[in-house]
Amino acid sequence: MTSTLLRRLPLLAGLTTALLLGACSQNTVNPGVEPREAAPYLTRVEAASRAARVSNVHYQMHLDLPADNVPFSGRTVIDFDLSDASAPLTLDLVDGTVSEVKVNGTVVDAPHNGFFITLPASSLRKGAQQVEITYTHPYRRDGQGLHWSKDAEDGETYLFTQFEDYHFNKVFPGFDQPDLKATYRMTVTAPAHWQVITAKRESAVEDAGEGRKLWTFPQTQLFSTYIFSIHAGPYKVWEDNDFRVPLRLFARQSYAQYVDVDDWFKVTRQGFDFFDNYFEYAYPFGKYDQLLVPDFVFGAMENVGAVTFTERLQPRREKTRADRQRMAVVVMHELAHHWFGNLVTMKWWDDIWLNESFADLMGNFATAEATEYTEAMQSFSTSRKSWGYAEDQWNTTHPIVQDIPNTEVVMASIDGITYAKGAATLIQLKHLIGADTFQKALALHFDRYAWKNANLNDFLGTLGEAAGRDLSGWSEQWLQQSGTNALKADVQCDNGVVTSFVVNQSPANVSGALREHKLDALLISTEGARSLVDIQVTGENSAQEQVRGYDCPAFVLLNASDYTFARILFDDTSVNYLANHLADFTDPVQKGLIWRALWESVIDGELAATRFIDLGLKYLPKENDPALLGTVARNVQGAYSYVFLRPFVREFGPEQAEAYRAKLAAMAWAGFQTDDPALKRIWFGQWTDYAKGIADQKRATQLLAGQTLGTDDRWTLAGMLVRTGHKDAELWLEKLSQQDSSDKGKLNRLAAESQAPDKAVKQRWLTEVSNPDTTYAYTDLRTILFSMMPLEQHALNLELEQDILVAFHALTNAQQPALQATLAGALLPRHCKAEGESHYLALAETQGLAGTVTKVLKKTAQAETRCVAAQAKLD
Ligand SMILES: [Zn+2]
Repeated sequence: MTSTLLRRLPLLAGLTTALLLGACSQNTVNPGVEPREAAPYLTRVEAASRAARVSNVHYQMHLDLPADNVPFSGRTVIDFDLSDASAPLTLDLVDGTVSEVKVNGTVVDAPHNGFFITLPASSLRKGAQQVEITYTHPYRRDGQGLHWSKDAEDGETYLFTQFEDYHFNKVFPGFDQPDLKATYRMTVTAPAHWQVITAKRESAVEDAGEGRKLWTFPQTQLFSTYIFSIHAGPYKVWEDNDFRVPLRLFARQSYAQYVDVDDWFKVTRQGFDFFDNYFEYAYPFGKYDQLLVPDFVFGAMENVGAVTFTERLQPRREKTRADRQRMAVVVMHELAHHWFGNLVTMKWWDDIWLNESFADLMGNFATAEATEYTEAMQSFSTSRKSWGYAEDQWNTTHPIVQDIPNTEVVMASIDGITYAKGAATLIQLKHLIGADTFQKALALHFDRYAWKNANLNDFLGTLGEAAGRDLSGWSEQWLQQSGTNALKADVQCDNGVVTSFVVNQSPANVSGALREHKLDALLISTEGARSLVDIQVTGENSAQEQVRGYDCPAFVLLNASDYTFARILFDDTSVNYLANHLADFTDPVQKGLIWRALWESVIDGELAATRFIDLGLKYLPKENDPALLGTVARNVQGAYSYVFLRPFVREFGPEQAEAYRAKLAAMAWAGFQTDDPALKRIWFGQWTDYAKGIADQKRATQLLAGQTLGTDDRWTLAGMLVRTGHKDAELWLEKLSQQDSSDKGKLNRLAAESQAPDKAVKQRWLTEVSNPDTTYAYTDLRTILFSMMPLEQHALNLELEQDILVAFHALTNAQQPALQATLAGALLPRHCKAEGESHYLALAETQGLAGTVTKVLKKTAQAETRCVAAQAKLD
């Protein structure tokens, strides 16, 4: 899967059923056997006890799919072997209505409590077993299970499934856990003009009468339930059958015009050529389909042979190089999962980090090696990796390896640590054991564990074997302990040469871990000569004898090639050196390391936010690396927010903030005049954020009247007019609505309107978000929440705090953790006061909050502390 986000939505209806049935399920179990907890998740203990009894699983499923949002009907036949028939056995099925359960040909009384079906022990026998379940089940609108959506333009229905982590059971009854791999045989009836897509290509499509067709698919290979999928609807299909793996690409009819089909197929072919060779294992799943689907919560999902992607990967405009690179990285990420994840699969969810970190690394590495986007690893360093650093420096950070006792916490565990820090740690491991050894070990791993499950120890065992060293100590330092180490060079010189070069390592935040690091350092002499030296760090102080005798450096950049994951500390001399020499650095990775170190000093209250903005104003206009520009410009916005909030904290005149805003808006507008499309996009986003006042409004209306911008950018400008209270804002919204009647157009309009500096508008959305019967998809509400409270409306944000809290608590009661976490992250105001931390920590203690929500609140609390420190530095 690609990208962050978010957790499942437990259903109130299901919980009520569970309470009603909880008592009778007690009666169906043998004495001494713990009854399974009636809950919308599966525990590791339950999964292990089931895997000990069940094997050789085969599913034969039939679905009857209606176009309307009414329940679909299904029949699933499960063949498996059972080693112990003395206790009841459960089959996962969250929601739905079961009409009949047959075990070995006999109808049995098998209660369904809204979470699982219990097969009584009396119905089971040791050995081969067959269970047949007939049922109906509702479609969903939250992007889990079988998601239903209706296209606003042509009224067509599009369906897709999302089964990771525990959602197979929201469509099919079964053993929904990664270590019970199975084969699947599927038939589907659907409206005659639809496509039906799953892990295999269809073997037959026949007329089923009443305007419907019956699709038959052959048996699949062996893989886990969370990567099975079934997608259906009148998708537009493109084929590329000239390649050794038959390729198809699908999109909604109304979205098809935005898809760069040739580019997509080209990158996919390059990926297959690269991975077949690098992994030394030919792609094992036959065909490969990729679908762009509406309302997709994540970036993409690696369903075997039928991968789903968010439409955001193909924005509605001419694609820039950065857009195409992003698409390539995600395509490669999902393809890499077909070996690491789909062919060799984790045993349980505590190894999901490895699944994602590996795919994140390979997505970038394969893009850099096999496509024209050779800068992909640099972009990982300057952009994606920042996510890992940012996440790791909150108090809520956690070790890369986490305890996942049940499927409820899987999604809460996926974050910048899981993806970006994990991938960065694998880069460090690859550098430690050598790139060739790393590749050979992977080939061995796939050969050894193909079609099986493997855990972290299996993976490290294979790598250690290839490297000739035991990696358990490394694993303990890097994977079991949280936080980021800080590295600082302590250099002594005599007569212009280095006499001592020691790297000081600070213990990681939160865990206190010290780690083994293999890296390099750039030394710049007073004459400007540059040398790169290898560095080994093991403890608190690591002397580097190999550096003795070098010219005494005027500046040292540790981790210059970004092999390790660590904070780099500069002393004041270095910061002063950088103020005059930042332009001397041409390597984006080195520039990225320097900018990150400076930004981290701002959030720690060591460097004044204004000083950081000044550096941005000086150097960003010359920056031509889009990934780096994007990251640093966002950090400058962060620094500006500290300056903007200052009058709220110190009753200090707002003139300084306004002066900075004007300078930043002018820089962004000037940047926007570039001919480079990728840079132009970044500057456009920056300018619309800072824009304010009559001159900027005039520029916006001129751009709206012209033809140079794409539809979504025009919507952004209309939003800016709404936000800044322009008299013609409403007219522009009307005009754009007439030109763009798509789902995206409708959502864009809502997002634009939500920015109005009007308390009533915000209150209406707060009511809608907390309305349990809202008809908006989760992804739509997420977009609104992130647009409705721009920084400049901070006074309004403070005024609305009580309304925000009311909506927040309503979402606790409605058990909507994903939406609640989004609301908290987007809307809870920063007070920037000493008591702010305890204020939000107290809120985090609210009864009944999900882990994801608590995490957001703890970060909000820490953001208060950071803001206070940043304000002190501005005094
Ligand atoms: Zn992934």
